[in-house]
Amino acid sequence: ALDLEGKTAFITGAASGIGRATACAFARAGANVMMVDREKGGLEETADMVRKNGVAVGTVVADVTDRVQISEAVKATIEQFGTLDCAHNSAGFYPAPMDIVDVSEDIARRTLEVNYWATYYCMQAQIKVMLERGGGTIVNTSSVAGLVGAPNDAVYSASKHAVVGLTKSVALAYAARGVRINVVCPGVIETPMVEKIIGTDEGRSVVTAMHPIGRLGAPEEIANAVVWLSSPAASFVVATSFAVDGGFTAD
Ligand code: NAD
Repeated sequence: ALDLEGKTAFITGAASGIGRATACAFARAGANVMMVDREKGGLEETADMVRKNGVAVGTVVADVTDRVQISEAVKATIEQFGTLDCAHNSAGFYPAPMDIVDVSEDIARRTLEVNYWATYYCMQAQIKVMLERGGGTIVNTSSVAGLVGAPNDAVYSASKHAVVGLTKSVALAYAARGVRINVVCPGVIETPMVEKIIGTDEGRSVVTAMHPIGRLGAPEEIANAVVWLSSPAASFVVATSFAVDGGFTAD
């Protein structure tokens, strides 16, 4: 049921971390992959990894906070592959942890732009083409910080709560029209994004202790969940905030 042969997957943030792992996992499931990121070098590295699975690959260098660039990336997907079946919106921004009184307005707005507004732009463009083609799936990317409070990451947490709210509401609106939408909420995953926290022994052990499983996550563990959520195996899963977090948010 994880067979996505002949489908087209569209992934933002594919030059690194979770987005890169998802691009590879979609390719292993047989999907052709369109990848978007503003980092050209990283995108090309991911493209080489994806191609090894024998699927077709496209790349678009774009800033996800620019609505026009996103709509052009979606258009390029249709031009190259004729369809856009599964989207994973993974691009995100994590500012350094700090007290709310020290967060500049610039950083606060940037965080909302990349995490919330870009998700909104992506969904708008993706849903339009999916409806024209009989449906599709979207997985957005929130965080454990989108489910519970995060004292040193208030603005990031707010942006990720917004992604959960947006996803649930839009998912309900389109559930009966063939577009199945969910949001994945990762625990702390070993990627460059969180190097500033897990890069020191102390930071790593504090953060590891928040995960009952006793370790941090790997990008592939999120990618597996995203591909499952995007596949026919998850055909009855709608509007879920899907925690993949080693037990972080369990009551
Ligand atoms: P990462 O830094 O490894 O990858 C993020 C990618 O997004 C990068 O390739 C970056 O170039 C791209 N990106 C950022 N801003 C962009 C923009 N404006 N336009 C285009 N591309 C842009 O980080 P990651 O850990 O893979 O994070 C992926 C997602 O997972 C993010 O939404 C993040 O908030 C979320 N997340 C990560 C963790 C974690 O612990 N790593 C935990 C929970 C949620």
